[in-house]
Amino acid sequence: MRCLIVEDDDAIARDLASALAGSGFHIERAADGDAAWFRGGTEDYDLVVLDLGLPRIDGLSVLKRWRAEGRDMPVLILTARGSWHERVEGIDAGADDYLPKPFRMEELVARARALMRRAAGRPSPVQEVGRLALDTNRQTVSVDGRLLSVSALEFRLLGYLVMHGGRMVPPTEFLEHLYGDDDSRDVNAVEALVARLRRKTGPGIIGTRRGFGYFLEGGA
Ligand code: CA
Repeated sequence: MRCLIVEDDDAIARDLASALAGSGFHIERAADGDAAWFRGGTEDYDLVVLDLGLPRIDGLSVLKRWRAEGRDMPVLILTARGSWHERVEGIDAGADDYLPKPFRMEELVARARALMRRAAGRPSPVQEVGRLALDTNRQTVSVDGRLLSVSALEFRLLGYLVMHGGRMVPPTEFLEHLYGDDDSRDVNAVEALVARLRRKTGPGIIGTRRGFGYFLEGGA
């Protein structure tokens, strides 16, 4: 899952990044409204955490521009404490959730996960496709009820497949969502990751159509 953190306060941005990375997100950052608007308008994110008080273009204007341009990724806004009008304006502008500053990272992470579940149209923290079950709270994976030991990257790959039901996901899309702007990776990295995962899941879980991509067996 790819997440853009938009925050000009470097210390807060770093805390956000480590909390969300620990929860399985691939993190990218923007420190002003201009950069945020550009990235959010040209790249696909699964989640954006957007501070409203930003240099160059304020967060509310960035959000309005995205929505006007049809960008519909889930956006969680960070508002100033006690500023109810910011929250109202933010929701009106198309925010999916808000968190007043200061906040606890645990709450931020819980809200981020809830947004991911809502975006996937699956309210339960345990998401099942075919014989595979993913618990996004505990970050565990099981096949036929048997727990697997997977890395954070492997969990993210499976999470992305689950989020898309049985849809075919091309390797290039995985590249973007797993590694973001890291250009040193190519589709071979994705193939190696899938091969490793298959050894853990056994056959009949991750399907392939050569030249097209990967999908979950038993998905919609
Ligand atoms: Ca700020």
